[in-house]
Amino acid sequence: MHVDMILAPVSEQNSMSTQQTIKGRFAPSPSGRMHLGNVFTALISWMSVRSRGGKWLLRIEDLDPQRSKMEYARMIEDDLSWLGLDWDEGGLDDLGPAGPYSQSRRGHIYEKALARLEATGMTYPCYCTRADIMATQAPHESDGRIVYHGICRPAPVPPFDNKPSGNYRATRLYVPSECITFDDRTYGRQSVNLAEHCGDFVLRRADGAWAYQLAVVLDDALMGVTEVVRGCDLLLSSAQQIYLYNLLGYDPPQFAHLPLICNLDGQRLSKRDQSMSMAELRKHHSAEEIVGLIGYLANILPEPAPISATQLAAAFDWDKVPAVKSLAYDI
Ligand code: GLU
Repeated sequence: MHVDMILAPVSEQNSMSTQQTIKGRFAPSPSGRMHLGNVFTALISWMSVRSRGGKWLLRIEDLDPQRSKMEYARMIEDDLSWLGLDWDEGGLDDLGPAGPYSQSRRGHIYEKALARLEATGMTYPCYCTRADIMATQAPHESDGRIVYHGICRPAPVPPFDNKPSGNYRATRLYVPSECITFDDRTYGRQSVNLAEHCGDFVLRRADGAWAYQLAVVLDDALMGVTEVVRGCDLLLSSAQQIYLYNLLGYDPPQFAHLPLICNLDGQRLSKRDQSMSMAELRKHHSAEEIVGLIGYLANILPEPAPISATQLAAAFDWDKVPAVKSLAYDI
């Protein structure tokens, strides 16, 4: 199986005619209040497109029904507006032609794409539990990422007929032992062997939930996104996504990954870090102070001086963004 097995792109009703417009996006999961790390990503993405006259889209990534809450989505919108970050498309109001902009309402789109992939024989049913998969993990593999070693992978690869009985299953995509190479705007050339670093990955979970990798590719492609800016914890995911872009017949966007913001103990911020949450930050700081801090962390400002998002965008320069994997927060 080769990466060049490409399907013709689907002309969805949502397929955009504005492919050439520079379009960035922010795609938060509404599972908590934003923290400084989320704001860092949002602001850099916003400045990157605004400084070049591009558009910005807000997509609500609420695929996980247990963790996603409408009130968090509302708070994300409120925090972005408070910071001075406006969007041209998306959000809870479904502004624009490529909606709906919440992933929980896009299942019909993912369904069609999955059917296309299934029809090529590139997928197989997987009955493994998480415990089965963990039992196959070598201790130091892939920075803690779970690389699937194929208990359910039929051999030889397609066609196959060794489906176990039962209907509680996930759908997994074969990946070849080939390198996906791409140029990340921050970290430069990346080369990822999919089989070695990612393994065959899930497109739809056994409980029917859509996997992030499939949803994000279809959404970014059909919404006409040309630039994906996000934390460097998703660098490997970009290789998986480029593989899917190729299979589905879409052009991948430019990827730009960012350092993760860490607390003073060197731990990556999470939605549980209350002191970094926008709820706390807004109590003690103005929007201009937070934007100024991010300008400083992104190496655009020599010191964390208050500034508006629009003013900072005028000074934005990708070449200044530090190509390190983490930045310590200091506010
Ligand atoms: N929804 C993901 C998150 O909130 C972001 C995924 C992406 O930007 O591709 O972490």
